[in-house]
Amino acid sequence: MSVRDIRVRSEGGIIVETPNGAELRFDPRTPGGSHTVLSHAHADHLPRESGSVICSPLTARLAEHRRPNCCLRRAEHPTIELLPAGHIAGSRAALVRGDRWSLLYTGDICTRSRDYLEGFEAQSADVLIIETTYGRSEYAFPPIEETVRAAHEWLAAEPTRPAILFGYTLGKAQRILRLITGDLDRRVMTTASIEEVNRLIADELDVEFDTELYDHDKGLRDDDILVLPSQMIRTAWVERLIETTNARTAGFSGWALDRGYRFQRGVDRGFVLSDHCGFAELASVVRHVDPDILYTCHGFMDAFARAMTREGFETRSLRANQRTFSDFV
Ligand SMILES: [Zn+2]
Repeated sequence: MSVRDIRVRSEGGIIVETPNGAELRFDPRTPGGSHTVLSHAHADHLPRESGSVICSPLTARLAEHRRPNCCLRRAEHPTIELLPAGHIAGSRAALVRGDRWSLLYTGDICTRSRDYLEGFEAQSADVLIIETTYGRSEYAFPPIEETVRAAHEWLAAEPTRPAILFGYTLGKAQRILRLITGDLDRRVMTTASIEEVNRLIADELDVEFDTELYDHDKGLRDDDILVLPSQMIRTAWVERLIETTNARTAGFSGWALDRGYRFQRGVDRGFVLSDHCGFAELASVVRHVDPDILYTCHGFMDAFARAMTREGFETRSLRANQRTFSDFV
């Protein structure tokens, strides 16, 4: 058996055909095949149709909340082991064991343990399918303490102006609330959409989020902090809120390493806060897994594939709907 007998392609998710004719689907738009794995509940990984999925209980609850029209039944299979992925609450990687082969699908991963998230620990496998969102060497994230210190200094510099902090509804918003605003003696408010996600996470994990629901009619006090979903940046009501309250704005993301981040996102300040692996962490995962063949997907998949090829790994990048070389050999 050669690892090339395991066919991998990107087509509405990652599709794997195994040597014994099974079809595995990872984070597909349409659940189906022999087994479907859902790594986590971020929108770009969630199915758009109903079906049966192998995922953590929390991911099932978050998915149900975020896609109320999709009915996802949680399944299990003895050949598929879910591993903590360290990306967001409930996220899992999947290790599949075949007759004479094994395959590791990472989904989105972060190897740094932090707060309530257990970092991803690599396990050896013959085939590795790895996410490469930050798969270029310039993406090296600073220690988390540095980001917290910088954010606290920024907030303390103007204590009598409200601050609006932006982060994704699921994942980043909770990190901001626990890490940045958790210890501050200022009122912290957020939206119902973030509070609902907080509640689902708090129900499942032993964590608390200390927030008040933002009331549009009451507005903001001078020293308030408002945590908003990042997709609200530049919406008319946020622009109006900034104008009327003289609020300062900050975004939290791994992309804040990019020079153009502040301008592109339209915020006063960007703070580096990532729930993914940086380049060196991704490379370290590959070395630990030590696969016979490596597939890269998402983000800088070609750059990362080239870097790993230089290290001697047989590597393919998985562009959507593009057949890989292994389909032809
Ligand atoms: Zn994600």
